[in-house]
Amino acid sequence: MKRKILVGNWKMNKTMKEAIEFANALKDKSIEVEKENIILGIAPSYLCLPIVQKLGGSLITYAQNVHYEESGAFTGEVSIPMLEEIGVSASLIGHSERRTYFKETNETCNLKLKALEKHDMNAIYCVGETLKEYEEDKTKSVIKKQVLKGLEGLSEEYISELTIAYEPVWSIGTGKNASKEIASDICKYIVDVIADKYGDEVASGVYVLYGGSVKPNNIKEYLDDEHIDGALVGGASLKPESFIEMIENIRG
Ligand code: PEP
Repeated sequence: MKRKILVGNWKMNKTMKEAIEFANALKDKSIEVEKENIILGIAPSYLCLPIVQKLGGSLITYAQNVHYEESGAFTGEVSIPMLEEIGVSASLIGHSERRTYFKETNETCNLKLKALEKHDMNAIYCVGETLKEYEEDKTKSVIKKQVLKGLEGLSEEYISELTIAYEPVWSIGTGKNASKEIASDICKYIVDVIADKYGDEVASGVYVLYGGSVKPNNIKEYLDDEHIDGALVGGASLKPESFIEMIENIRG
């Protein structure tokens, strides 16, 4: 059976001092993640990555983004070798805020995933439809395109170890969750799309998370679903008490 995953996305929040306070609060609560059947991760800002790595015990640290080139004239960007050097082994790719505000496309996400594969680094590839697409009943066609284009040219081995997060754009940071039925249906659909293209064996290794206004009071409902392997959480991952409550509720 797959272990459940809980990853907090801090976005552009927390100074280094605040990140230290968070890591210490987790330590004080003796969150022994390895003993639990839960994989825990945090995606802090680049600046806070070394702190979370150092103080976060067995928390996996994720970058929130990477550039697909190794180096060069890309002012303001961070490359995979730079992250590798400080021991970061995974990154979010294609978060809806990156797609919306920084114009990332399925094509640039694909370049980033290929670059991560080259460096043997894992990814959480984020997909999800906008409110307009949802209302026009285009969810599945949008998701299918994001998945197939994003994964184009990756090895089956890499795909079988990938994590994909289904995050409907209309539910991120809005307090409007997708119902468990919708989340379950789309998470299953993602696995089906991969199975159709790459076969059942590859698809069975993929982890699919739900993200969108997940909170301590609703996380268990999602994670109890057989098609949802975990959660990617923004707002509710910022306070240590709320992050700890989510862990306790998953164990529940
Ligand atoms: C996210 O940032 O990936 C997210 C799901 O945010 P929130 O939990 O705040 O909706």
